Amino acid sequence: MAGWLRSLVGALTLLEVAAALSFLHHRYEEMVQALFRVQSQCPYVTRIYSIGRSVEGRHLYVLEFSDYPGIHEPLEPEFKYVGNMHGNEVLGRELLLQLSEFLCEEYRRSNERITRLIHDTRIHIMPSMNPDGYEVAAKQGPDSNGYLTGRNNANGVDLNRNFPDLNTFMYYSGEISGPNHHIPLPDNWKSQVEPETLAVIQWISSYNFVLSANLHGGAVVANYPYDKSQDQRFRSHRRTVNTPTPDDKLFQKLAKTYSYAHSWMHRGWNCGDYFADGITNGASWYSLSKGMQDFNYLYTNCFEITLELSCNKFPPEQDLERQWMANREALVAFIEEVHQGIKGMVSDENNNGIAGAVISVQGISHDITSGDMGDYFRLLLPGTYTVTASAEGYQPQTVTITVGPAAPSLVHFQLKQDVVRKPLERKASGTRMNNKALQKKVVPRATRRGTQR
Ligand SMILES: [Zn+2]
Repeated sequence: MAGWLRSLVGALTLLEVAAALSFLHHRYEEMVQALFRVQSQCPYVTRIYSIGRSVEGRHLYVLEFSDYPGIHEPLEPEFKYVGNMHGNEVLGRELLLQLSEFLCEEYRRSNERITRLIHDTRIHIMPSMNPDGYEVAAKQGPDSNGYLTGRNNANGVDLNRNFPDLNTFMYYSGEISGPNHHIPLPDNWKSQVEPETLAVIQWISSYNFVLSANLHGGAVVANYPYDKSQDQRFRSHRRTVNTPTPDDKLFQKLAKTYSYAHSWMHRGWNCGDYFADGITNGASWYSLSKGMQDFNYLYTNCFEITLELSCNKFPPEQDLERQWMANREALVAFIEEVHQGIKGMVSDENNNGIAGAVISVQGISHDITSGDMGDYFRLLLPGTYTVTASAEGYQPQTVTITVGPAAPSLVHFQLKQDVVRKPLERKASGTRMNNKALQKKVVPRATRRGTQR
């Protein structure tokens, strides 16, 4: 190709990228096109897959960024963003499309930070978990949007009140020192969830996600678990009680990472509410049951927070660029938070990875487990910890380690086979439950305070 022709093609390619970065609301077809455009511009570091379909048959698409798309590399953490689970809260959807284009474009420009992020992390981006609700909200448009129009899925169900309630079991079993992680699902859970919820549960069960955020609107604050207060069991109580997880300090730090990297979230005063540092424990704001972030924490290894990103749930297009600039650094910085604490391999004496090994940190009653290849990721704040790895049929191993503020420390475990304990032991004392309270339907109040997350 002649030199001038090459530069013309180069210039046109750049124009194409620039054109893609326009600040518009995307209906379903346009959103799908935008995702595939990014995929075609960055084919070697992206992949598109669908986790299932909505009630009306729309695909729930995910765009993945990785140096090996479609493959889990041992010791490389999985991260996810989920937008638009409330169909009328649309800013997250647009920000995630912008983020996708940004990551692709900066990768092509060999931006060092973005290249490192994509090489060291497997990033999954789902711009819309509720594409049906979005279409209802978008038909009304930004100006005349009713407060709740399009919030629910096509069956009229609020997806962030639709996950199995594991909190009740957790709060109860916590008192009798039961399991503190991977709480089992109630037997009939599949019949109680919507197609979108089912798809997400199967998704988060099949990838070993480490860190996540789901994006909402109607307030400006970074909200961390638990969303459900322990007192919600008793209807007469005021349902706003700080309800920390065993990882409370870590969650506060994660939430602050977002709020302080955001242009104004950290200031606290937004949309007529005040949140110190721009963060809040979910239940201390208002308690909600069957939410997605609590479910992530109690059922998987994933630490999820909920980001409320705009007072106006459906901001006008003129506001989108300002919102992107306010959130861009925060969206990138939050992904980088997946690289902290400790990670490593749990293997047997022949160096075979052990899946499902339990990693316990003394003083934090929330364990995580190793993935299919035996690798584990335990987010931790800087400090000194006593950590134990245990697995059925092996002798547990305990080490004391110090975690620094920067990259995660590598801590590998090699477990010796246990000749005394029978592997059946744990199964027998397993935690199949038949918890009536779990199946009790909790009807959320559609008050104004309580229609954000
Ligand atoms: Zn919401």
